[in-house]
Amino acid sequence: MKIMVAIKRVVDYAVKIRIKSDKTGVETANVKMSMNPFCEIALEVALRMKESGVASEVIAVSMGPSQCVDTLRTGLAMGADRAIHVDAPSTLYPLTVAKLLKALVQVEKPGLLILGKQAIDDDCNQTGQMVAGLLNWPQGTFASKVVVDKEKKAATVDREVDGGLETLCLDLPAVITTDLRLNQPRYATLPNIMKAKSKPIKKMSLAELNVDLRSDLEVVQVTAPPVRKAGVILSSVDELVDKLKNEAHVI
Ligand code: AMP
Repeated sequence: MKIMVAIKRVVDYAVKIRIKSDKTGVETANVKMSMNPFCEIALEVALRMKESGVASEVIAVSMGPSQCVDTLRTGLAMGADRAIHVDAPSTLYPLTVAKLLKALVQVEKPGLLILGKQAIDDDCNQTGQMVAGLLNWPQGTFASKVVVDKEKKAATVDREVDGGLETLCLDLPAVITTDLRLNQPRYATLPNIMKAKSKPIKKMSLAELNVDLRSDLEVVQVTAPPVRKAGVILSSVDELVDKLKNEAHVI
Protein backbone atom coordinates (compact mmCIF):
# COMPACT_ATOMS: atom_id res chain seq x y z
CA MET A 1 0.00 0.00 0.00
CA LYS A 2 1.20 3.49 -0.89
CA ILE A 3 0.74 6.36 1.56
CA MET A 4 0.56 9.95 0.35
CA VAL A 5 1.42 12.68 2.86
CA ALA A 6 0.58 16.35 2.27
CA ILE A 7 3.31 18.65 3.54
CA LYS A 8 2.93 22.42 3.76
CA ARG A 9 5.74 24.96 3.93
CA VAL A 10 4.80 27.54 6.55
CA VAL A 11 6.35 30.31 8.66
CA ASP A 12 8.45 28.55 11.32
CA TYR A 13 6.58 28.00 14.59
CA ALA A 14 9.23 29.94 16.55
CA VAL A 15 8.85 33.11 14.43
CA LYS A 16 6.66 35.89 15.75
CA ILE A 17 4.07 36.46 13.04
CA ARG A 18 3.87 39.96 11.52
CA ILE A 19 1.00 41.27 9.41
CA LYS A 20 1.90 42.90 6.06
CA SER A 21 1.53 46.69 6.11
CA ASP A 22 -1.17 46.51 3.41
CA LYS A 23 -3.12 44.01 5.58
CA THR A 24 -3.32 41.44 2.77
CA GLY A 25 -1.73 38.64 4.81
CA VAL A 26 1.17 37.53 6.93
CA GLU A 27 4.71 38.76 6.16
CA THR A 28 6.80 35.93 4.66
CA ALA A 29 9.68 37.90 3.11
CA ASN A 30 12.99 37.18 4.92
CA VAL A 31 11.17 34.97 7.42
CA LYS A 32 12.34 31.47 8.38
CA MET A 33 10.05 28.87 6.80
CA SER A 34 9.72 25.22 7.86
CA MET A 35 7.57 22.15 7.48
CA ASN A 36 4.20 22.64 9.21
CA PRO A 37 4.56 20.79 12.58
CA PHE A 38 1.35 18.77 12.06
CA CYS A 39 2.68 17.66 8.65
CA GLU A 40 5.87 16.39 10.36
CA ILE A 41 3.61 14.26 12.57
CA ALA A 42 1.70 13.07 9.47
CA LEU A 43 4.95 12.06 7.79
CA GLU A 44 6.22 10.34 10.94
CA VAL A 45 3.13 8.12 11.23
CA ALA A 46 3.44 7.18 7.54
CA LEU A 47 7.14 6.33 7.97
CA ARG A 48 6.38 4.15 11.00
CA MET A 49 3.75 2.29 8.93
CA LYS A 50 6.35 1.64 6.25
CA GLU A 51 8.89 0.46 8.84
CA SER A 52 6.34 -1.95 10.34
CA GLY A 53 5.55 -3.43 6.92
CA VAL A 54 2.04 -1.95 6.61
CA ALA A 55 3.02 0.38 3.75
CA SER A 56 5.31 -0.14 0.79
CA GLU A 57 5.98 3.47 -0.21
CA VAL A 58 5.62 6.96 1.27
CA ILE A 59 5.11 9.84 -1.15
CA ALA A 60 5.39 13.42 0.15
CA VAL A 61 3.49 16.10 -1.79
CA SER A 62 3.49 19.87 -1.51
CA MET A 63 1.80 22.70 -3.41
CA GLY A 64 3.25 26.18 -3.66
CA PRO A 65 6.25 28.14 -4.99
CA SER A 66 9.61 26.56 -5.87
CA GLN A 67 10.89 26.85 -2.26
CA CYS A 68 8.49 24.02 -1.34
CA VAL A 69 11.16 21.74 -2.80
CA ASP A 70 13.32 22.49 0.29
CA THR A 71 10.50 21.35 2.56
CA LEU A 72 10.01 18.23 0.45
CA ARG A 73 13.77 17.55 0.67
CA THR A 74 13.40 17.62 4.48
CA GLY A 75 10.57 15.10 4.12
CA LEU A 76 12.79 12.89 1.95
CA ALA A 77 15.58 13.18 4.53
CA MET A 78 13.15 12.06 7.24
CA GLY A 79 12.49 8.96 5.13
CA ALA A 80 9.87 9.56 2.41
CA ASP A 81 10.66 7.56 -0.75
CA ARG A 82 9.81 10.22 -3.31
CA ALA A 83 8.07 13.56 -3.60
CA ILE A 84 5.80 15.56 -5.86
CA HIS A 85 5.90 19.35 -6.04
CA VAL A 86 2.89 21.07 -7.58
CA ASP A 87 4.08 24.45 -8.82
CA ALA A 88 1.54 27.04 -7.61
CA PRO A 89 1.34 30.51 -6.05
CA SER A 90 1.99 30.76 -2.31
CA THR A 91 -1.59 31.72 -1.42
CA LEU A 92 -3.78 28.69 -1.96
CA TYR A 93 -7.18 28.21 -0.38
CA PRO A 94 -7.94 24.86 1.30
CA LEU A 95 -10.48 23.91 -1.37
CA THR A 96 -7.89 24.42 -4.12
CA VAL A 97 -5.36 22.30 -2.21
CA ALA A 98 -8.06 19.65 -1.69
CA LYS A 99 -8.79 19.60 -5.45
CA LEU A 100 -5.07 19.26 -6.22
CA LEU A 101 -4.72 16.43 -3.68
CA LYS A 102 -7.72 14.67 -5.23
CA ALA A 103 -6.07 14.92 -8.66
CA LEU A 104 -2.79 13.54 -7.25
CA VAL A 105 -4.65 10.70 -5.52
CA GLN A 106 -6.23 9.78 -8.84
CA VAL A 107 -2.75 9.54 -10.39
CA GLU A 108 -0.96 7.73 -7.51
CA LYS A 109 -3.85 5.70 -6.02
CA PRO A 110 -2.59 5.57 -2.40
CA GLY A 111 -4.38 3.49 0.25
CA LEU A 112 -4.07 6.34 2.76
CA LEU A 113 -3.84 10.09 2.41
CA ILE A 114 -2.44 11.67 5.59
CA LEU A 115 -2.46 15.40 6.31
CA GLY A 116 -1.78 17.60 9.30
CA LYS A 117 -4.94 18.59 11.18
CA GLN A 118 -4.17 22.22 10.37
CA ALA A 119 -1.54 24.48 8.93
CA ILE A 120 -0.14 26.86 11.56
CA ASP A 121 -0.08 29.81 9.14
CA ASP A 122 -3.76 30.08 8.27
CA ASP A 123 -5.11 27.70 10.98
CA CYS A 124 -7.85 26.70 8.52
CA ASN A 125 -8.28 23.05 9.56
CA GLN A 126 -10.27 22.37 6.38
CA THR A 127 -8.14 20.66 3.75
CA GLY A 128 -8.35 17.07 5.07
CA GLN A 129 -12.10 17.23 5.51
CA MET A 130 -12.57 18.78 2.05
CA VAL A 131 -10.42 16.26 0.20
CA ALA A 132 -12.21 13.38 1.96
CA GLY A 133 -15.50 14.89 0.76
CA LEU A 134 -14.25 15.33 -2.81
CA LEU A 135 -12.91 11.76 -2.93
CA ASN A 136 -15.92 10.36 -1.07
CA TRP A 137 -13.45 8.58 1.26
CA PRO A 138 -13.97 8.01 4.99
CA GLN A 139 -12.06 10.42 7.23
CA GLY A 140 -10.47 10.21 10.67
CA THR A 141 -9.50 13.72 11.75
CA PHE A 142 -7.45 14.86 14.80
CA ALA A 143 -5.92 11.37 15.10
CA SER A 144 -4.01 10.64 18.30
CA LYS A 145 -3.57 6.92 17.50
CA VAL A 146 -3.73 5.03 14.19
CA VAL A 147 -3.61 1.26 13.71
CA VAL A 148 -3.86 -0.15 10.20
CA ASP A 149 -5.00 -3.71 9.53
CA LYS A 150 -3.51 -4.58 6.16
CA GLU A 151 -5.51 -7.80 5.75
CA LYS A 152 -8.89 -6.24 6.56
CA LYS A 153 -7.96 -3.07 4.63
CA ALA A 154 -9.12 -0.95 7.56
CA ALA A 155 -7.70 1.66 9.94
CA THR A 156 -8.68 2.21 13.57
CA VAL A 157 -8.30 5.86 14.52
CA ASP A 158 -8.54 7.38 18.00
CA ARG A 159 -9.49 11.02 17.61
CA GLU A 160 -9.35 13.84 20.09
CA VAL A 161 -12.80 15.40 20.48
CA ASP A 162 -14.11 17.91 23.02
CA GLY A 163 -15.37 15.33 25.48
CA GLY A 164 -12.40 12.92 25.25
CA LEU A 165 -11.47 10.26 22.71
CA GLU A 166 -13.58 8.81 19.92
CA THR A 167 -12.55 5.60 18.13
CA LEU A 168 -13.45 5.15 14.48
CA CYS A 169 -12.93 2.21 12.15
CA LEU A 170 -12.34 3.36 8.58
CA ASP A 171 -12.37 1.24 5.43
CA LEU A 172 -9.36 1.99 3.26
CA PRO A 173 -8.68 4.03 1.20
CA ALA A 174 -9.22 6.82 3.71
CA VAL A 175 -8.07 10.28 4.78
CA ILE A 176 -6.43 10.81 8.17
CA THR A 177 -5.43 14.14 9.74
CA THR A 178 -2.94 14.13 12.58
CA ASP A 179 -3.10 15.75 16.02
CA LEU A 180 -0.22 16.77 18.29
CA ARG A 181 -0.14 13.72 20.57
CA LEU A 182 0.06 11.09 17.78
CA ASN A 183 3.86 10.89 17.83
CA GLN A 184 7.15 12.71 18.21
CA PRO A 185 8.55 13.27 14.70
CA ARG A 186 12.14 12.17 14.06
CA TYR A 187 14.98 14.49 13.09
CA ALA A 188 16.68 13.89 9.75
CA THR A 189 20.16 12.44 10.30
CA LEU A 190 23.15 13.70 8.31
CA PRO A 191 23.51 10.48 6.24
CA ASN A 192 19.77 10.64 5.42
CA ILE A 193 20.07 14.32 4.45
CA MET A 194 22.82 13.28 2.00
CA LYS A 195 20.74 10.34 0.70
CA ALA A 196 17.72 12.60 0.20
CA LYS A 197 19.64 14.63 -2.39
CA SER A 198 19.31 11.77 -4.87
CA LYS A 199 15.67 10.90 -4.17
CA PRO A 200 13.27 11.98 -6.95
CA ILE A 201 11.06 15.09 -6.73
CA LYS A 202 8.59 15.26 -9.61
CA LYS A 203 7.36 18.71 -10.60
CA MET A 204 3.77 19.06 -11.81
CA SER A 205 1.79 22.06 -13.01
CA LEU A 206 -1.76 23.10 -12.18
CA ALA A 207 -2.65 22.56 -15.84
CA GLU A 208 -1.40 18.95 -15.77
CA LEU A 209 -3.71 18.28 -12.83
CA ASN A 210 -6.52 20.21 -14.49
CA VAL A 211 -7.23 22.37 -11.44
CA ASP A 212 -7.79 26.10 -11.71
CA LEU A 213 -7.15 28.59 -8.95
CA ARG A 214 -10.50 30.34 -8.99
CA SER A 215 -11.96 30.48 -5.50
CA ASP A 216 -15.23 31.58 -3.97
CA LEU A 217 -13.29 32.98 -1.06
CA GLU A 218 -11.73 36.41 -0.87
CA VAL A 219 -9.59 37.55 2.05
CA VAL A 220 -10.76 41.10 2.73
CA GLN A 221 -8.28 42.03 5.42
CA VAL A 222 -5.84 40.42 7.84
CA THR A 223 -5.27 42.24 11.14
CA ALA A 224 -3.36 41.51 14.32
CA PRO A 225 -5.41 40.86 17.47
CA PRO A 226 -5.80 43.87 19.80
CA VAL A 227 -2.88 44.32 22.19
CA ARG A 228 -3.76 43.08 25.69
CA LYS A 229 -3.45 45.51 28.56
CA ALA A 230 -0.81 44.66 31.17
CA GLY A 231 -2.11 42.83 34.24
CA VAL A 232 -1.92 44.12 37.82
CA ILE A 233 -0.90 42.27 40.96
CA LEU A 234 -3.35 42.77 43.81
CA SER A 235 -2.34 42.59 47.44
CA SER A 236 -5.44 40.95 48.91
CA VAL A 237 -8.59 38.99 48.12
CA ASP A 238 -10.66 41.93 49.35
CA GLU A 239 -9.05 44.15 46.73
CA LEU A 240 -9.82 41.51 44.05
CA VAL A 241 -13.47 41.29 45.12
CA ASP A 242 -13.70 45.08 45.11
CA LYS A 243 -12.30 45.32 41.57
CA LEU A 244 -14.55 42.53 40.26
CA LYS A 245 -17.54 44.28 41.79
CA ASN A 246 -16.84 47.93 41.08
CA GLU A 247 -14.56 47.92 38.01
CA ALA A 248 -15.34 44.77 36.04
CA HIS A 249 -18.96 44.67 37.27
CA VAL A 250 -18.99 40.87 37.04
CA ILE A 251 -20.13 40.08 40.61
P1 AMP B 1 -5.32 23.71 6.53
O1 AMP B 1 -6.65 23.13 6.15
O2 AMP B 1 -4.89 24.86 5.65
O3 AMP B 1 -5.25 24.07 8.00
O4 AMP B 1 -4.21 22.57 6.27
C1 AMP B 1 -4.36 21.26 6.78
C2 AMP B 1 -3.35 20.34 6.14
O5 AMP B 1 -3.56 20.32 4.72
C3 AMP B 1 -1.87 20.70 6.31
O6 AMP B 1 -1.35 20.25 7.56
C4 AMP B 1 -1.27 19.92 5.13
O7 AMP B 1 -1.15 18.54 5.44
C5 AMP B 1 -2.32 20.10 4.05
N1 AMP B 1 -2.01 21.28 3.20
C6 AMP B 1 -2.58 22.50 3.25
N2 AMP B 1 -2.02 23.30 2.33
C7 AMP B 1 -1.06 22.59 1.70
C8 AMP B 1 -0.12 22.85 0.66
N3 AMP B 1 -0.03 24.04 0.05
N4 AMP B 1 0.72 21.84 0.28
C9 AMP B 1 0.65 20.64 0.87
N5 AMP B 1 -0.22 20.32 1.85
C10 AMP B 1 -1.06 21.28 2.25
